[in-house]
Amino acid sequence: MAQAKIKQPRPIIIGNWKMNGLKASVKEVRALDKAAKAAGRVGADMMICPPATLISTLAAAAKGSKIAIGSQDCHMNASGAHTGDISAEMVRDLGGKAAIVGHSERRTDHGESDAMVLAKAKAAHLAGLTAIICVGETEAERDAGATLRVIGKQIKGSVPDGATSKNTIVAYEPVWAIGTGRTPTLAEVAEVHTFIRKKLVARFGDDGAKIRILYGGSMKPGNAAELLAIAHVNGGLVGGASLKAKDFFGIISAC
Ligand code: PEP
Repeated sequence: MAQAKIKQPRPIIIGNWKMNGLKASVKEVRALDKAAKAAGRVGADMMICPPATLISTLAAAAKGSKIAIGSQDCHMNASGAHTGDISAEMVRDLGGKAAIVGHSERRTDHGESDAMVLAKAKAAHLAGLTAIICVGETEAERDAGATLRVIGKQIKGSVPDGATSKNTIVAYEPVWAIGTGRTPTLAEVAEVHTFIRKKLVARFGDDGAKIRILYGGSMKPGNAAELLAIAHVNGGLVGGASLKAKDFFGIISAC
């Protein structure tokens, strides 16, 4: 019997500003809103994840626009003795709607394991945030032919039970493509995204087909259209090219 065709989820383009941006950077949110309003119909949802210091300012600036604001991390606990950390509840309190968890820079710089990423994703869900869960192989892992094994392990270990298309986004970010100007071939991206989709459907059924899977790693206006046209690529997680509204909107316009 022919299977019912499931509608592709609406794309979302998420900017990860990393440790960049001062109060004056609010002008980029205003410029993005202006560009989106001038364009009329925008083919993707839009989100910016600034450093924690700017969540409140940017959330206020984005009020009345279609731009959502998120965080780049959250702690696994709601409160407590964790100097320097911020909780999902605090992100929500500042007007944030989502939290990136398990970005490779945090997995590497802060030793975050799948178990920690899982706990952070659960904390995000508990606080009413969308968890943007990042996975990705290193160059050595790809060279060793271990990409799908690594991604499968990360998906299993980092995506919590109870994940839905409303509270979860998965971002595939090959570590070696982040900030390097290098990207996998379109066939390599397609292979990994199809693999992730199968894993999500196997675990979450029909709703697994609606969970957005983003590609991240040196996405820019010049390569966005071809990356976003790949099956099961439901948007992008963008670092460097999200810092300037003009570049970021160039990617959004490719949807
Ligand atoms: C990222 O860090 O999430 C990222 C995709 O960075 P860039 O776009 O700069 O490669």
